[in-house]
Amino acid sequence: MTDARGAVVVGAGIIGLTTAVRLAEAGHDVDVLTADDPLRTTSMSATGMVGLRFAEPSERVTRWRASTVAELSGQFGRDVGVRRQPGLLAGRDRFDAPDRLRSFPGFRVAAPDELPNGFRSGFWLDMIAVDLDLYMPDLVDRLLATGASVSHGHVDDLASIDAEVVVNCSGIGARHLVDDPALRADWGMHVIVENAVGLDHHFMEIPPGLRRWISWMPHGDRILIGGASVLDRDDGAPDSAVEAELLDILGRTRPELAACPTIGVNAGVRPQRDSVRVEAETLPDGRTLVHNYGHGGRGLTLSWGSADEVVSVLTDERGP
Ligand SMILES: Cc1cc2nc3c(=O)[nH]c(=O)nc-3n(C[C@H](O)[C@H](O)[C@H](O)COP(=O)(O)OP(=O)(O)OC[C@H]3O[C@@H](n4cnc5c(N)ncnc54)[C@H](O)[C@@H]3O)c2cc1C
Repeated sequence: MTDARGAVVVGAGIIGLTTAVRLAEAGHDVDVLTADDPLRTTSMSATGMVGLRFAEPSERVTRWRASTVAELSGQFGRDVGVRRQPGLLAGRDRFDAPDRLRSFPGFRVAAPDELPNGFRSGFWLDMIAVDLDLYMPDLVDRLLATGASVSHGHVDDLASIDAEVVVNCSGIGARHLVDDPALRADWGMHVIVENAVGLDHHFMEIPPGLRRWISWMPHGDRILIGGASVLDRDDGAPDSAVEAELLDILGRTRPELAACPTIGVNAGVRPQRDSVRVEAETLPDGRTLVHNYGHGGRGLTLSWGSADEVVSVLTDERGP
């Protein structure tokens, strides 16, 4: 056992930052160690939708999402990109909206003339949307205000970090730090167009699990157009062929958005795993390593809940 003190959180994406905030709030002396600047992580390329629970029946995921919703609701009105806005979720086939969604705020079945071209069923909900360009810098400020620090450096071996507690929030980077065949790269990108039409709602094609879909998310004067999922692609670079494909689908689905000037692209690699790994292990010298990675396409949605879980896992390990 070393005499090192405090917690080092590896990773400064949405998962590392929220985990570090919660650890600092719980009284830990926290340093975040990251290879990339927080504002250059995959988390910056997220659409910014606090998603619904479609696929995961787990009680844990439901609870984590609820924690995030509660935390983000406290940010409304702070001008940090967090707001509630109408979201339209629609499919190309006819379907009935799941019963459990009918009690959600803002639920109503979409009228046929509200559906984009080629879509046959859909429903509206009031959902939380987050502009990561505004929210991530605020999260960094919030972390620093706790007295925590952010250091830059590449980690080759989690056990070599000189800290009482090490927390692994390295996203897809965990593939090089732990032996976990369940963790897979899931590449995605957006085309970014100017919000020349004053769009004030978002749209997502369902069901989830498609490899290409159409979605739009307005953040102020820009709109993120998705979406793509390529398993085992891990370069994190935009792809001009996918850009053309997304604009083509958009043109057929919502032509007035396709007519907005394109102002950029973004791309990132989702850390895909069947279930998020939040788990403690004991290092050979007796120190504690806690993992918090594998959030796939739900990192923003689950962020505060899985951060809370890290704190409770540590409390269970070490006592309050
Ligand atoms: C196109 C796209 C759209 C998305 N949309 C949404 C959405 O609308 N809603 C939602 O909930 N989720 C969404 N996601 C998913 C979400 O972005 C991810 O789940 C989330 O960003 C994962 O965060 P993370 O902190 O685990 O990883 P990252 O953001 O990748 O951060 C990893 C951190 O670990 C550091 N790191 C890695 N390896 C090392 C190392 N060896 N040494 C030191 N540091 C290291 C990196 O530098 C970085 O700081 C989307 C993802 C993509 C790609």
